[in-house]
Amino acid sequence: MSVELTGKHLIAGEWVTGESTFASEPAHGASHDFAMGTPAHVDTAAKAAEEAFWSFGYSSRAERAALLNRIADEIDARGDAITKIGTEETGLPEGRLVGERGRTTGQLRLFASHIEKGDYLDRRHDEALPDRQPLPRPDIKLVQRPIGPVAVFGASNFPLAFSTAGGDTAAALAAGCPVVVKGHSAHPGTGEIVAQAIDAAIKALGFHPGVFSLIQGGTRAVGTALVQHPLIKAVGFTGSLGGGRALFDLCAQRPEPIPFFGELGSVNPMFLLPAAVSARGEEIAKGWAGSLTMGAGQFCTNPGISVIVDGPEADAFAAAATAGLEAVGAQVMLTDGIAKAYRDGRDRVAGASGVQTLLTTTCDLRNATPYLYSTTGEAWLANEELGEEVFGPLGLIVRVKDTAEMVAVAKSLQGQLTCTLHMDAGDTADAQALMPVLERKAGRILANGFPTGVEVSEAMVHGGPYPASTNFGATSVGTMSIRRFLRPVSYQNIPNDVLPADLA
Ligand code: NAP
Repeated sequence: MSVELTGKHLIAGEWVTGESTFASEPAHGASHDFAMGTPAHVDTAAKAAEEAFWSFGYSSRAERAALLNRIADEIDARGDAITKIGTEETGLPEGRLVGERGRTTGQLRLFASHIEKGDYLDRRHDEALPDRQPLPRPDIKLVQRPIGPVAVFGASNFPLAFSTAGGDTAAALAAGCPVVVKGHSAHPGTGEIVAQAIDAAIKALGFHPGVFSLIQGGTRAVGTALVQHPLIKAVGFTGSLGGGRALFDLCAQRPEPIPFFGELGSVNPMFLLPAAVSARGEEIAKGWAGSLTMGAGQFCTNPGISVIVDGPEADAFAAAATAGLEAVGAQVMLTDGIAKAYRDGRDRVAGASGVQTLLTTTCDLRNATPYLYSTTGEAWLANEELGEEVFGPLGLIVRVKDTAEMVAVAKSLQGQLTCTLHMDAGDTADAQALMPVLERKAGRILANGFPTGVEVSEAMVHGGPYPASTNFGATSVGTMSIRRFLRPVSYQNIPNDVLPADLA
């Protein structure tokens, strides 16, 4: 299929420009001009989304499932164009973009089958007890209803799966909520072609055009106006702690505060228990080097910290990790800004007291090479800054005196997306001591693996206590993520023919 980049916003079915433009900054290939978003664009899109809600919010689950499946098909039809511009804009390799597209369309199709099953509606019924003493009980039914227009901010590091038609958009559309996406300035062309696919699906199936809009950024005023717009009822965000916190605060300060579902940063610590280290410490180190450098370390689930009991086996682990990381060359990062933030993070870790450098190299501005540092449990516990995320392939080994100090390190952690245990049968008692701490800290705890792959499935939680996310009851990956865009309503003594179709 031939695909043409227009550089325009998609607002309620119309492709529109504005007074000014901004130029994309691709890792390679030609730069393109894109219309700059304004608060006026946000207003038009939000009003159209609200208007669309009166039909879309009451559409059948089968109709919305058809829309999700059609969007997936339209994305696949534009697959080559998406891969081409995606690799240019982000510097991510072609294989990664192809794989991520499969994840994105798979996610859309998974939501289609999920809503058709209907379990997510959590329907409940308290039957009337007219003869109950001292008072009769009314008939009460409960069902989950869509909340209204949702704003979505995609992430730079997943230009497809966490962006324009990513998990937040799929979950919101599945729930029956129209979506206004604020395009990420790191991949505006990728965002536009995906928006073309969504537009084609909406038009083919005859939905209200306000069901979906994409407003390109270019200025922070778009995001600010979007989260403050009175018709927006919730925000899905994947990005940095600083950006997420600023937008979260704006949501809380509105006359009508709204939920802000931000998936932010995490250092994803790994706890290496003694029997596992004795049996296969070097193998774990090699695996860590691979996980830490995958995609230039630009994963929110990147395992930045390894906690290990000090001694000769920790020396061998550090040597194997250094060798594994040394072998990895420079990789291009998503943006100049992310590469600069990576170097700033390196300087912060390298300059902290009690930190020893194991591996450091230099490279060009937009490239990243791995860095490895080591510290003691005592220095970690004295220096909160070491627990802050460095987005990129940077590792820190924390050498603790014993497993009791390992538990103290675990207790000192901020909220995490993941915590990992490397354990053998002989480590069960230590794992049992850590588990109550880890489950208070993280959304996902895993054993004998690496956290960088996040399965899109029924039982997945991609979230966690702040700052991993701004809403610890939610996940942004997997079918449970639909709950963020639903609200329970009770219907008391309402006749069947007046109830929502999902209850009647
Ligand atoms: P980002 O810089 O926070 O940008 C995310 C989006 O928010 C962009 O559209 C950005 O606009 C907008 N934005 C940021 N600050 C804003 C502000 N003050 N006002 C209005 N809009 C604002 O994050 P990123 O570069 O996309 O992603 C990198 C970070 O995301 C890393 O820290 C990583 O750990 C985290 N991340 C987390 C997850 C997760 O699931 N938890 C997944 C991936 C990434 P512009 O386009 O104008 O910059």
